[in-house]
Amino acid sequence: MKMCSKVDQTATLSPQDNYFPEVLENCKEICYNVENAKAKWRKPDEEVRIMAVTKTVPPEKVNFAVAQGFKLLGENRVQEFLSKKEAYDKSAEVQFIGHLQTNKVKYIINDVTLIQSVDNLKLAHEISRLAVKNNKTMNVLVEINIGDEATKSGVSAEMAEELVRQTAQLPNVSVKGLMAIPPVGSGEDVFEKMHGIFLSVKEKDIPNVSMDILSMGMSGDYELAIKHGSNLVRIGTKLFGARKYLED
Ligand SMILES: *Cc1c(COP(=O)(O)O)cnc(C)c1O
Repeated sequence: MKMCSKVDQTATLSPQDNYFPEVLENCKEICYNVENAKAKWRKPDEEVRIMAVTKTVPPEKVNFAVAQGFKLLGENRVQEFLSKKEAYDKSAEVQFIGHLQTNKVKYIINDVTLIQSVDNLKLAHEISRLAVKNNKTMNVLVEINIGDEATKSGVSAEMAEELVRQTAQLPNVSVKGLMAIPPVGSGEDVFEKMHGIFLSVKEKDIPNVSMDILSMGMSGDYELAIKHGSNLVRIGTKLFGARKYLED
């Protein structure tokens, strides 16, 4: 993986104002663990992308991770993203991963490459409407509430395929896969259930659905997620350190 070979060479970086040694260490450790997990459990040609989850992290720290090759950023909150986006390194790719209210799609539609958190048809309709208006195609994932947690967003496992089908019929929207946040401490069965849904939807070859991305795994479980088919892990705490204030 290019990103990780780059991290290994960063000993040559000269110290500067925005230098975060602990983030550098974390980058190396995450790359090492991801490479190991891939070697153990996945085919050599399979790619796993690592996303840097930026909530509560100041842009200069985010940019330091980008400079280490962590060029995929995950945003949770519209307001926070809007206040930080101008400061982000322009080489970064930004995706939206947080709960998204329908009336806020308009603020992010032109600044993200993928919305991972589509969990209802009303939201999908609004993304479609604004994509048409802005003359673009918006890539989305359907988010599944795989642990059936009352406090989490996401469509139920049973309704997932139906939401994929309905979303895929909307103009200027392209369904690229699925996203999930397995409950903390989930057993392997939960990850495997998610993987199974992913494979079963993929097999159906639904028009305008590509099922390229299974976004699953965070700081506490990314290796397990890679074992069970994830190809996009979203990492915050393990990369940037503990978050200092409460979040949604
Ligand atoms: C915060 C968050 C993450 C990262 O969580 P960590 O445990 O800090 O790695 C990943 N995905 C989503 C949707 C998040 O909100």
